[in-house]
Amino acid sequence: MPGNSRVKKVVVIGAGLGGLSAACRLARDGNRVTVVEKNAGPGGKVNFVSAKGFSFDTGASLVTMKHVFEDLFEYCGEDMADHLELVPLDPICRYFWKDGTTLDTSTDIRRTETAIAAFAPEDARALAGYLEASKKKYEIAQRTFLSRSLNDLPKLLTPSNLPDLFRISSTSTLDSYNSKYFRSSKIRQLFDRYATYNGSSPYEAPATFALIPHAEFGLGAWYPKGGIYGIPTGIEALAHRLGVEFRYSEPAEEIVIENGGVSAVRTSTGVLSADAVVANSDAVDTYRRLIPEKHRKKYTDEKLERIEPSCGGFVVLLGVRRKFDQLSHHNIFFSEDYRAEFEAIFGSLTVPDDPTIYVCATSRTDPTQAPEGCENLFILLNAPYTGVVDWEAEKERLADKVVGMLESFGLEGLRESAVYRETITPADFEKRYRANRGSIYGVSSNGILSAFMRFPNKSREIEGLYFAGGTTHPGGGMPLVLLSGKMAAELVSKD
Ligand SMILES: Cc1cc2nc3c(=O)[nH]c(=O)nc-3n(C[C@H](O)[C@H](O)[C@H](O)COP(=O)(O)OP(=O)(O)OC[C@H]3O[C@@H](n4cnc5c(N)ncnc54)[C@H](O)[C@@H]3O)c2cc1C
Repeated sequence: MPGNSRVKKVVVIGAGLGGLSAACRLARDGNRVTVVEKNAGPGGKVNFVSAKGFSFDTGASLVTMKHVFEDLFEYCGEDMADHLELVPLDPICRYFWKDGTTLDTSTDIRRTETAIAAFAPEDARALAGYLEASKKKYEIAQRTFLSRSLNDLPKLLTPSNLPDLFRISSTSTLDSYNSKYFRSSKIRQLFDRYATYNGSSPYEAPATFALIPHAEFGLGAWYPKGGIYGIPTGIEALAHRLGVEFRYSEPAEEIVIENGGVSAVRTSTGVLSADAVVANSDAVDTYRRLIPEKHRKKYTDEKLERIEPSCGGFVVLLGVRRKFDQLSHHNIFFSEDYRAEFEAIFGSLTVPDDPTIYVCATSRTDPTQAPEGCENLFILLNAPYTGVVDWEAEKERLADKVVGMLESFGLEGLRESAVYRETITPADFEKRYRANRGSIYGVSSNGILSAFMRFPNKSREIEGLYFAGGTTHPGGGMPLVLLSGKMAAELVSKD
């Protein structure tokens, strides 16, 4: 339960979900917490746009691991249900392939089996075993990586944990693991896709991530009524009730370090003294921009340059004045050559010729999100992080191409029924949220040891400096960044 021997002055840099989570917990523990945020409001990459009667979430669209969100409110003495209504989605997602095949996944495993059996009977029989193994992996992660900071690595590597860690670790990739279970290239592609839940490639990310399907099939896919942006605003309101001070439109410009430890944060308007600093800003950007190089032996500019970001995202927001009844809430329109797609994204850093397209139509389940008879389509491609593509020059052409591709998947009339269109590119994510090279999940998990390579929640070389957010342990995605905030807050309170 909350409790703290000494009240600390804590400055949190960034009001993304990781920062909000840390701020609430630290305030609940009795600390004096100030959040400085460069933008005008909370949420970071979880943001929104309203235009012409349409509402669009511009970042995250799928809520998994609902218990993590509930746990934050509970820790702070409140019931999330009093502030946020999360509704379960069934089907979880509708998948489309170019040959006309479609498939709905469901938390009702029998229903998913039946859907798979329609074109891949052997794979339908393999599903239950695959999901059982996924559950086991998830449970191991839950009691190791998801509940302990990497700063606790020595505690994680105890003889009692080692068998677990061997069971969950893997020297094979997610794709090769999936191909042992599933024969149909379509079903393999469907389960390979879970690598993108942390912005990685299934051909490089370890099979450890076969735990993610359990988070969706076993624990459910959720949607907060009124839109995803209700999550950061709901947590920000919780923070206000706990006494957290928010200073918006006030970027941090330097983490002031004296005698090897943090002493203050210099912002655009002044200096805030601090016993501890939690950086929710991208850790690469934080080191590079806010900490003079003389204070960082480990994270030199060259080392930071070598850290591979997760993929970026290319978003098209499309308000259309008609219904598309073939759409579900979440939809995936698959490419034909998945491997080529990831080779482009992470290899040549170019936009794939034939990208997989994700479409979220919250208007299918929430009429408040679009005018009557209309749909609010959030369209997302996994895209390379910045460096090669000239996004300003490419974005409209790419948006046209994506709309055309969706029309050939059967959404005829999409182009002519659009009354609102806006694009968001990796360059925008970089500029708006200072995400390293526009990555949307932080650091990539392309590598067998990637879980151990993330930024730890507490600096090992600067006293009083902590990290929360997608670039840090345990990783990107809303529930994991909430956990990173929890781990950072626990370390601050413990120290
Ligand atoms: C297009 C897209 C789709 C996604 N889909 C999903 C999904 O379906 N489900 C899911 O769970 N996750 C999804 N994610 C990932 C998820 O949104 C992120 O992992 C998560 O929101 C990141 O939170 P964070 O704590 O790392 O903070 P961020 O959102 O990165 O926020 C960091 C904050 O710090 C601020 N900041 C930076 N530098 C400074 C500074 N110097 N001073 C002050 N403030 C500063 C920024 O302005 C920002 O507000 C998606 C993300 C994107 C972009």
